[in-house]
Amino acid sequence: MKLSKLKANLNKIKFAFNLYPYIQRSFEDYRRYIPQPYNAVCLISADFEMAWASRYTKSVANPLTKAIEDGLRTRRNVPIILDLCDRFNIPITWATVGHLFLESCSAIEGVKHHDLPRLPHFENEYWKFDKGDWFDCDPCSDYSADPAWYAPDLIRYILSREVKHEIGCHTFSHIDCRDSIDDGTVFQAELEKCIEIAAKWGLELKSFVHPGHTIGHLDKLAQLGLTSIRTDYGDTLAFPVKHISGIWELKNTSEFSYRPSWSIDYHIERYKSIIDRAIKHKRVCVLWFHPSLPELFVDKIVPPVLGYLAKKRDEILSMTHSGYIGFLES
Ligand SMILES: [Zn+2]
Ligand SMILES: [Zn+2]
Repeated sequence: MKLSKLKANLNKIKFAFNLYPYIQRSFEDYRRYIPQPYNAVCLISADFEMAWASRYTKSVANPLTKAIEDGLRTRRNVPIILDLCDRFNIPITWATVGHLFLESCSAIEGVKHHDLPRLPHFENEYWKFDKGDWFDCDPCSDYSADPAWYAPDLIRYILSREVKHEIGCHTFSHIDCRDSIDDGTVFQAELEKCIEIAAKWGLELKSFVHPGHTIGHLDKLAQLGLTSIRTDYGDTLAFPVKHISGIWELKNTSEFSYRPSWSIDYHIERYKSIIDRAIKHKRVCVLWFHPSLPELFVDKIVPPVLGYLAKKRDEILSMTHSGYIGFLES
């Protein structure tokens, strides 16, 4: 049996025995974290990055090809997901790479995004950036010529929908945010750029997701007016935690991701069961996904799962990240 299949089967057993996701013990009054009259809260966020996430990935031999495929699949999936959100009245927090707001961009004297400082070459669990310039893959054209790298049309589409979604932040160019890589200069410049662009759209960025779970620079986030992050230290049904910086940490419960060795029905039952467990244990259910998900997942698994959330709406409240932080701070 292949290792990945073995892992997927083991995970099924852990799930069946309620060992996963981990249900955090707490002696706190759940009403501090769950609004009346509900028993649970569900937060769904999307890491909205198009081609920007995979261009330095170590998972394939040709990262640029994968990056562009991810971007184009995202274009195919987003309208379908938005239709489902309207149908079931469920909002999503779109943690958006800032470059996607741009209609176009161009190099100045041969330098792309000349106003932004660059990270030094680095390697982490997922990416290897060991040569050239950070923006080498940027086509410096526009969204009709290179639709995987820009998405102002999709952002407009998200904002035009019946359900009020949130546009959050995922840095300007999908950088590694760890404190050990950058003293905060690059991080701050990327965030300021996103905030400036979003302001022109009439948007205030409140919710942040670190690319590749590279958690860092929480003080800077707070100074820049952001209020929450999402972390991935192991899937859990828990309560959020407020850091000294003032930033709220939302702890990840489960990723919408496709495991080929699991049946479609098992995927669906598993997500429904996570929703049931959140309600039963009165916890915050933090779901997340990449909108570049396989078409099969978007077409066959997402509809019944969101439908189930809607069916349980008297017990579990679906909110955006900033909407939920507004409740916590009220
Ligand atoms: Zn650009
Ligand atoms: Zn990302």
